[in-house]
Amino acid sequence: MLSKRLDNLHPYVPGEQPKDRDYIKLNANENPYPPSEAVEEAVRALVSKKRMSLALYPDPASEKLRDAIASMINCTGGVLCRAVGKDGDEFACEPCESDKLPFEVTRDMVFCGNGSDEVLSLVFYTFFDSDRPLISPEHSYSFYPVYAGYYGIPLKKIPLNADWTLDKKAMLKSALETDSPIIFANPNAPTGRALTRDEIRKMLESAPKDRAFIVDEAYVDFGGESAISLLGEFKNLVIVRTFSKSMSLAGLRIGYVIANPEVIRAIETVKNSFNHFPIDVIAQTAGIAACRSCAYSAKNARAIADERDSFSAWLEKHGWTVIPSSTNFVFAKKDGKSGESLYRAIKEKGLLVRHFATAGIDDYLRITIGTSEQMNALKTAMETL
Ligand SMILES: *Cc1c(COP(=O)(O)O)cnc(C)c1O
Repeated sequence: MLSKRLDNLHPYVPGEQPKDRDYIKLNANENPYPPSEAVEEAVRALVSKKRMSLALYPDPASEKLRDAIASMINCTGGVLCRAVGKDGDEFACEPCESDKLPFEVTRDMVFCGNGSDEVLSLVFYTFFDSDRPLISPEHSYSFYPVYAGYYGIPLKKIPLNADWTLDKKAMLKSALETDSPIIFANPNAPTGRALTRDEIRKMLESAPKDRAFIVDEAYVDFGGESAISLLGEFKNLVIVRTFSKSMSLAGLRIGYVIANPEVIRAIETVKNSFNHFPIDVIAQTAGIAACRSCAYSAKNARAIADERDSFSAWLEKHGWTVIPSSTNFVFAKKDGKSGESLYRAIKEKGLLVRHFATAGIDDYLRITIGTSEQMNALKTAMETL
């Protein structure tokens, strides 16, 4: 009865969402701050004054949401924690000097889907074939191997350097040998390490020009450098981003692509062959309000980045090894202790962090940065480990 394809599926296991106890949740890289009041007001207004809109299908192309995303990127430069506040009611941000874009992002450069997980699935279908390997770092987002299995795409995993950065040379060598596409997260997960924009430009210069080069920027708002400004030079660059981390909207499922219009049109063809309406009316409304109040999310991203830096320093002072992070989490280990036992000891004290039982990283914990209150509770729990 079951299809043969099912044998190739190895489903992704997300961070626990426990129901038995009120844990402090630092295990799924969610934002510890709620979305802005503007989001609340927009959703309230929708379900009261415009209740009829719930009875109708949403805009299949999410045009207003794509406009709002384009405006947000233009107003922030693409990295929230470095955006500079300015007066004004909407999109009250401007890019810092180093993030200024050399062109304007327009609606036809934006594609929206039901979380960046769905967006990544559509990107896999649009750009990767089973006739050549897809190049990816050995330790990166664990959904990439899952989708590779789903679509029957051979995945070539390239080991990281000893300092946990991506081995750019080895990735490029492999891509050139087989004329292959490349995918990685920048900053990377679960390591937290980032490549600079110049490093990505250099990779793009020698990578195969006729193959997609995918950069997953799920965490870029907490301190990485976005590759968006390179889109004018590289037509094969595809940037995937999400509202789940920096925009405090993991529960609404909004992900997007920023790329050149030809790339966006190709992904739309795949989307319209799969699910015409990936983003519901409430999510489109809330997403637009979240973009317009991006100054609020920018402030939260800065607070999280500051908290991350002080927590990293605390960990080092208490004998932990911490990989330098540009994200809203840290990846750290304590010599002589297994990651599993540390995870359990912290869980007993009422806090959840993430442990991966994967060879090479199983000594480490991935700890999401929360509010200062949450981090103080974590420090108290960790002091005695
Ligand atoms: C969280 C995460 C995603 C998925 O985000 P959603 O939009 O919630 O599906 C994608 N890529 C990376 C690297 C992530 O960490």
